[in-house]
Amino acid sequence: MKTLTVSVVTPDGPVLEDTFEMVSCKSENGELGILPGHIPLVAPLQISAVRLKSGETEQKIAVSGGFLEVRPDKITVLAQTAEKPEDIDKARAEEALARAEERLKQKGQDEIDFARAELSLKRAMNRITVSR
Ligand code: ATP
Repeated sequence: MKTLTVSVVTPDGPVLEDTFEMVSCKSENGELGILPGHIPLVAPLQISAVRLKSGETEQKIAVSGGFLEVRPDKITVLAQTAEKPEDIDKARAEEALARAEERLKQKGQDEIDFARAELSLKRAMNRITVSR
């Protein structure tokens, strides 16, 4: 089976570098499934899980947006934050979710805070889903 090297990088440093058979992720334009030999591509990512597959096993990484760069034998994910399930503090994510929900209930006069709260909510929900 052909493989591709996947590298996940944040401003704090590398999170993962390994080889996989397939990568699935959510770009701003929709779901992408990438196999070795894919045409080169750059795409912005949603706050979502990047799924790394080899045989029957699948590893997930929670990313808060960022970019995907695809070359035929290499994928780079460059994100502001990226966490493996075992590195996610679920209680912290649940607290962040509760804070964001509280802010969103206060019917937004301030549009910027509303947008920030929505992004915070998405990050927290993504972390909770990936940590399971
Ligand atoms: P919080 O309000 O809990 O800080 P946040 O969504 O504002 O959540 P970010 O700004 O996205 O946090 O991330 C800041 C740093 O903290 C990053 O290094 C990120 O990987 C880490 N981080 C955030 N939430 C968690 C979590 N629940 N578990 C582990 N690491 C986390």
